[in-house]
Amino acid sequence: MEKPKLTIDEMAAFCKRKGFVYPNSEIYGGIAGFYDFGHLGVELKNNIKKEWWKTFVQQREDIVGIDGSIITNPMVWKASGHVEGFTDVLVDCKKCGSRFRGDQLIEDKLKIATAGMSTDDVAQELKRHKVKCPKCGSELGEPNRFNLMFTTNVGPVQITASAAYLRPETAQIIFADFKLVQENARLKLPFGIAQIGKAFRNEISPRDFLFRMREFEQMEIEYFVHPEKQEECKFIDDVMDYELNVLSAEMQKEKKNMQKMPIKECLNKKIIKTKWHAYWLASMHKWFVDLGADAEHFRIRQHVKDELSHYALDTWDLEYEFPFGWKELQGLSNRTDFDLKQHMGYSKTDLSIFDEETKKKIIPHVICEPSQGVERAFLVFMFDAYEYDKKRENVVLKLHPKLCPIKIGVFPLVSNKKEIVELAKKIHNELKQEWTCTFDLSGSIGRRYARADEIGIYACVTIDHESLEDESITIRARDTTEQVRVKIKDLKEVLRKFMDGENLGKLGENVE
Ligand code: ATP
Repeated sequence: MEKPKLTIDEMAAFCKRKGFVYPNSEIYGGIAGFYDFGHLGVELKNNIKKEWWKTFVQQREDIVGIDGSIITNPMVWKASGHVEGFTDVLVDCKKCGSRFRGDQLIEDKLKIATAGMSTDDVAQELKRHKVKCPKCGSELGEPNRFNLMFTTNVGPVQITASAAYLRPETAQIIFADFKLVQENARLKLPFGIAQIGKAFRNEISPRDFLFRMREFEQMEIEYFVHPEKQEECKFIDDVMDYELNVLSAEMQKEKKNMQKMPIKECLNKKIIKTKWHAYWLASMHKWFVDLGADAEHFRIRQHVKDELSHYALDTWDLEYEFPFGWKELQGLSNRTDFDLKQHMGYSKTDLSIFDEETKKKIIPHVICEPSQGVERAFLVFMFDAYEYDKKRENVVLKLHPKLCPIKIGVFPLVSNKKEIVELAKKIHNELKQEWTCTFDLSGSIGRRYARADEIGIYACVTIDHESLEDESITIRARDTTEQVRVKIKDLKEVLRKFMDGENLGKLGENVE
């Protein structure tokens, strides 16, 4: 399998240099786990969210969206189990005081999986293998549990009663609003509620650039089904032949390698237990691939028994081969009716819905919760798009046209001929009504093309001396450097078709 082309640090440097992502408040030394998105990063991030929302909310009839608040009644987090159990194992260095995540120390040193390890397991492994502080080499203290939720105070008085949390996931807001959304949107099972928004986790050791941050965004769906109709997935035929790399819990136990197989094989062999789970795994994988990611860089991996969260009946992660190994890109859990029942118990509110068929009240089950971090998706698209073109001697960022931060570059061939510059400005003004565009007249045209390639501009439009006479311009394709001549009056139509995937060579007159 082809290895990623860059290390994560090189990607971070590229993102900074080109205006995608900056370390937050760097002028004050920064703050670990927080990043700012620059003028290109914000466009890419918005495009990712827009495409996700379009695919999973707007183009479907069974899913609606919400936008919940970040701070919520703290009882929400008691009911969900986060106050009690949203913890990681913290280990301090006895000498330098540096703090580490116990499981990560073990993973880094011993290269073994730590999923599901208790605090005692971590303590034992650290002792058994005499793991020392990675910073100063001194002895480590006893591991402790540390809650990852950020706390704050609501109102002017800082007392315990006013304490609240910044949400560590978007999911719980969906459960808390479940009844209102279901009734007002007149949702009938099966249905989903989706949300995109910020989440905050006080990660003990944020690292690997955007992979593990303290403030990030999630795109989540809670997909609800009738408890007695969990096997009735009406969309399963759409994905039966869809192939992906699979690593089940059983295969991990037997130390087998992942295997490529179609969804129907996963279901026939009962590797994936429910059709809905299989449907969502394939749909999420396909979303990435349709937006230009390389299917070979993905696999689905089932959680082994000890790894499962307290609420999950079964969990599969969609994993991506990052430069630092196969890691979770998205988690897809079967959460059953755990959350709705918890909130019913804690809030004393009836969150069941009336089943017209059986005339009984039922509590829907979340058969699958696809939960995707926006920034991890951002990394995947950047890694898979990044290419160094030896012939051109520059980077070409081959992002899918739907994701490109800037779709079109408009370049007057020369900067010293007023009529050419004016015509180029006119064209730029028109194109920017429909697409994100940039106008660049500095440096040679070759230099401008190179700059455009590096930030993934999908098409460049060049206006030259002849344009003044024949009312035509040249369009250059980023991925092939192919150039065609097109009448200005046809320009928008040609660009629309080109963005839709049509071959540029067929849309205009070829330029040698
Ligand atoms: P991990 O095991 O990597 O800590 P997790 O299992 O805690 O992840 P979930 O609670 O399942 O993660 O969160 C769902 C998704 O949110 C993840 O798949 C990931 O895409 C994203 N995510 C979670 N934590 C972070 C983080 N600290 N920084 C960036 N994205 C995150």
